[in-house]
Amino acid sequence: MDMLLQQIPLRMFMVRVPGHVFVVDEDRCFGCAACIALCPVDALRLENNLAIVDEPSCTHCEHCIPSCPVFALEIVQEV
Ligand code: SF4
Ligand code: SF4
Repeated sequence: MDMLLQQIPLRMFMVRVPGHVFVVDEDRCFGCAACIALCPVDALRLENNLAIVDEPSCTHCEHCIPSCPVFALEIVQEV
């Protein structure tokens, strides 16, 4: 069990960033799905070649962000 926990990125356990939201830039996303399987809480799904986030489920762990080849994923300040 300890070994398993050591393999999980620390950010996965961190709380959401207050006042921020996770967003998908619809103009950039082309539906490659690279980000989808990486989400540990299944907050992402693909719909009509666009990544959709269930934002309240997102933990802001940032795990998926580097996977996007067109930089479409971001955590931004809530307006
Ligand atoms: S930042 Fe990405 S990987 Fe992390 S919970 Fe949110 S959608 Fe999932
Ligand atoms: S990795 Fe980027 S381009 Fe690919 S589905 Fe996710 S958001 Fe869209």
